[in-house]
Amino acid sequence: MVMRETHEVIIVGGGPAGLTAGIYCQRGALKAVLFEKGPPGGQIAISKEVENYPGVEGITGFDLAEKMLRHAQSFGLRIMQEEVVGVTAGPDLHSVRLANGDWHDAAALILGVGGTVRKLGVPGEAEYLGRGVSFCGTCDGFFFRDRTVVVVGGGDTAVEETLHLSRLARKTYLVHRGSALKAAQLLQGRLRTDPGIAVMGSTFIREIRGDGEQVNAVVIQNSATGEERELQTDGVFIFIGQAPNNSLVPPEVRMDEQGFVVTDEKCETTVPGIFAIGDLRRKFASQIVIAAADGSIAALAAAHYVEARKAGTFEPGRLAGNGAR
Ligand SMILES: Cc1cc2nc3c(=O)[nH]c(=O)nc-3n(C[C@H](O)[C@H](O)[C@H](O)COP(=O)(O)OP(=O)(O)OC[C@H]3O[C@@H](n4cnc5c(N)ncnc54)[C@H](O)[C@@H]3O)c2cc1C
Repeated sequence: MVMRETHEVIIVGGGPAGLTAGIYCQRGALKAVLFEKGPPGGQIAISKEVENYPGVEGITGFDLAEKMLRHAQSFGLRIMQEEVVGVTAGPDLHSVRLANGDWHDAAALILGVGGTVRKLGVPGEAEYLGRGVSFCGTCDGFFFRDRTVVVVGGGDTAVEETLHLSRLARKTYLVHRGSALKAAQLLQGRLRTDPGIAVMGSTFIREIRGDGEQVNAVVIQNSATGEERELQTDGVFIFIGQAPNNSLVPPEVRMDEQGFVVTDEKCETTVPGIFAIGDLRRKFASQIVIAAADGSIAALAAAHYVEARKAGTFEPGRLAGNGAR
């Protein structure tokens, strides 16, 4: 039998953004529920080490995810392990449909569904996924002990993963398109002192090759000289950023040209009462601390929204009120 239940706030996604929103909702005594389709923690659960979350020195992503989950649970947050398959914006209540067919409605809806790794889109990438091509050094690095690996990307994550893989691999190449790395200087300094790492700038991957079973080479091209050559490798680890998981975002909600949800300073979207947080939202950087901050802002704003609706004093937010789309 299909169930239908009403809440004050629905949170979709149990990453750092959603769990923080849950903590603030509970502390604000809101009737809230959080839906998470997988293990709570989101992307941080696959992060080898987190070194930049304030107040928590040197922790694995898995342990930080566990801490956030326990923190949210300690305030009594209701977390349901269910996938949300549809979102409908309504004039009074917004609705979500679960994979099991049930419906849940709420005045405020907080979307914290995060992002998914970007792909290179070159020949061989899909064919050799799981057979030398990986998007997670923490998960797959172990299989490349004493082998050669190529890491692709120039940001913090790519450099962190290069440093991690270098501890396992015999030789690690870091290939990035730009003339300079975008990663933090501290991380770049560690790269320079690691003799097992070779950094190749202004270089991109044209093709991933293999023997039909496993990766054995990449074809790289230097963007400055146009020179193309084959580089022997056993693995290719790709860290070139994220694409937002925006398939649930209702059509009334404005997104930018890259598919990130546009919000105001309250994380409210163009639809009153629908908030977007974390890696789903358009912003300068994607980090755990930013996702957590978004979660707190959206929950505080949602509390205000719910109260204003009840009191009949609601006024549309900055984006929602000016007809921006
Ligand atoms: C390998 C790696 C290492 C990183 N290292 C760092 C680091 O050291 N420091 C740092 O600050 N940042 C790091 N980041 C970035 C950081 O992890 C993200 O910015 C952060 O996790 C974003 O949080 P989020 O809650 O917005 O999204 P996510 O963490 O992506 O969480 C979203 C959650 O929503 C759930 N979800 C999605 N769709 C649905 C649905 N339909 N129904 C129900 N649930 C759904 C997902 O299962 C997921 O749990 C790293 C990222 C990666 C990939």
